[in-house]
This record gives sequence, structure tokens and C-alpha cells, in this order.
Amino acid sequence: MPVTGLGPYDDTNIFARILRGEIPCRKVYEDAHVLAFHDIAPQAPVHVLVIPKGRYVSWADFSATAPDAELGAFCRAVGHVARELGLESDGYRLLANMGTQAGQEVPHFHMHLFAGKPLGPMISA
Ligand code: 5GP
Repeated sequence: MPVTGLGPYDDTNIFARILRGEIPCRKVYEDAHVLAFHDIAPQAPVHVLVIPKGRYVSWADFSATAPDAELGAFCRAVGHVARELGLESDGYRLLANMGTQAGQEVPHFHMHLFAGKPLGPMISA
């Protein structure tokens, strides 16, 4: 059940289509609950999206309604991807846009992982 202003889950959203294999992605990691792939329009030298395979509209939806196994798998996967990409020594940024004011464009929960250069201020107004 959706808990945000984004509406119910839309099975035609672009990440749902990637999960169904209808459109390609540059996969970084996959397990039973999680898929990670490179962003199509990277905003840093490394820009990876980590998504749950479940049908969650947003962070609000995922954090409130996902079973513990999916929450845990997601958290572990984000750390695993960053480690496997060799990002821990120089550091990286995690960001999840939630809803309208954050500018969330794709209504399937995703975590952005940015790295590869000094990333500047956390928020630019
Ligand atoms: P949001 O604004 O929802 O937080 O981020 C959505 C992200 O999805 C954007 O960074 C955008 O570049 C990325 N994106 C949109 N469509 C596609 C696609 O078809 N493939 C991939 N790999 N990324 C996409």
C-alpha cells in the first residue's frame, strides 16, 4: 500500500521495465532482492542506482512496508556494491529522493550512489 503522494505502484515505470528485462541496463550487482546498475545520465564519474526488486514506490513506502529480509538485503547490497567498486577509501555519497519536493522522477524506490570525485556541498539550492 502506498504511503506517499506518488500514488499506487505503476508497473510501467522504467525501473519495473528494467527488472522485467524489457529494457537493458548496465548491471553492477544482483541478488534475490536487489538490482544495481549504472545511471543512464551519470552525475558523477560513478553513479549507480540500487533498487529493491519488490514493488515499492518510494523510500517512505519501502521503509514502512518491506519485510525485514528485503530491508536487510537492500542495506547489505548498497554496502557490497560500494565495496566491490572500490569506493570505500575515497568515499561516496548515498542519496534517495523521496516525493515531489525532492524531485523523485522514477516512482520505484532507488538509492543513488555517487563517487569518483570530490562531490561538493551536500545540497545545492
Ligand atoms: P530520481 O530523480 O527519481 O531520484 O532519479 C531517477 C534516476 O533514474 C535519474 O538519475 C535518471 O538518470 C535515471 N534513469 C532514468 N531512466 C533511466 C533508464 O532508463 N536507465 C537507467 N539506467 N537510469 C535511468
